[in-house]
Amino acid sequence: MEKVTCFRNIGQLIQVQSGGETPTIVKKTRCALLVSQGRVKKVIPDSEVHLHDFFREVDLAGRAVLPGFVDCHTHLIHAGNRKDEMEQRMAGASYMEIHKNGGGILSTVKATRQATEDELHETARLRVLRMMTLGTTAFEIKSGYGLDLDTEKKMLRVGRRLRKNLKIPVTLTYLGAHATPKGKTSNQYFEFVMEHLPEFRSLADGVDIFCEKGVFTVAHLRRLFLHAKLVGFHQLRAHVDEFSHQGGCHNAARLGAISCDHLEHITPHDIRALQLAGTTAVLMPGANFSLGSKKIPPVHAMLKAGVNLALATGYNPGSHPSYNMQTVLGMAQSLYRITPDQALIAATHGSARALDSHEDFGGLRLDQRADFIVLKTGDYRDLFYCVGENFVEQTYSAGKKVKGWKNPVTF
Ligand SMILES: [Zn+2]
Repeated sequence: MEKVTCFRNIGQLIQVQSGGETPTIVKKTRCALLVSQGRVKKVIPDSEVHLHDFFREVDLAGRAVLPGFVDCHTHLIHAGNRKDEMEQRMAGASYMEIHKNGGGILSTVKATRQATEDELHETARLRVLRMMTLGTTAFEIKSGYGLDLDTEKKMLRVGRRLRKNLKIPVTLTYLGAHATPKGKTSNQYFEFVMEHLPEFRSLADGVDIFCEKGVFTVAHLRRLFLHAKLVGFHQLRAHVDEFSHQGGCHNAARLGAISCDHLEHITPHDIRALQLAGTTAVLMPGANFSLGSKKIPPVHAMLKAGVNLALATGYNPGSHPSYNMQTVLGMAQSLYRITPDQALIAATHGSARALDSHEDFGGLRLDQRADFIVLKTGDYRDLFYCVGENFVEQTYSAGKKVKGWKNPVTF
């Protein structure tokens, strides 16, 4: 007999439906969610629960249940921290100035090269557990703090270990073209990345590049994407047009990028490219908040054009060392002026689409993975109303309660 678990007495159930042109939020009250073999089987009115015989019943006491958050852009595996940069930034140094002076990414590269695989795995594992405690049930991790073969591969092996041991959906991205290591020009290092790209096909699901003035050019992006496609990578992503307009978004979308990330400086021309190509725009309000960005992405123009929006933390040890999707929702609402429904769709279904997994999870729809969170309240809008509190009481991954991590945090 099929073992069905009944999550009953749900005060508010949120699902994301994606059948029409734009995904929509569906709200149900006083219902029960039936889960079998890790997947959503059915939703029934709570009044009908007594008519059935279930393997297990879980009383959720009127709380709100929603799809787990999907964080489609993180740099979660690294050693060291960059607390010193907070003072430098407040003294007026820009992100790119800190980078040019050997700080920023290069200081994380140094620490990550020195760390052992086990050390990197343990620090990342604890971050993941805390992240899940805060409601995230699927995410992406990029390499990019090695900028050499050994460390880039070490980072991706750590990602694969996390995926295997924690049994959660983890997408891995090779971001060799993240920055130029000391002692090399960007062209020299880029040729090195191109030469060794095939070695990463068995370690990563996709590739990414940091396309920005003074880092890698649009010409680099084009060459990387064309080569990556030949090598067999299907998921092409790019950090584009964040600090200046380089045309990276337009070119990446034209070459079939699954996502273009950041997009603070994009133009209507770029938005049209995203829309035509069906490329997801990944937005990270936490980075805008932490860096005090004067420019934010043209969110409403993208929504109007029908571009799929995704929200992510963009967790990284420099500009935004936070893996909390709840605060991302609150910041998206205030910085981007979007509604709770729009933000929640972007943080679940929209983000799952950026990982090419929107059929499998992100909507809590029938037959999808039963990845969901139970809030401490009965109204999901509290996440937006009272920003900063942790409203997630329980996180479920494939129908199983996640133990999470509530012990003191060390960075
Ligand atoms: Zn990033």
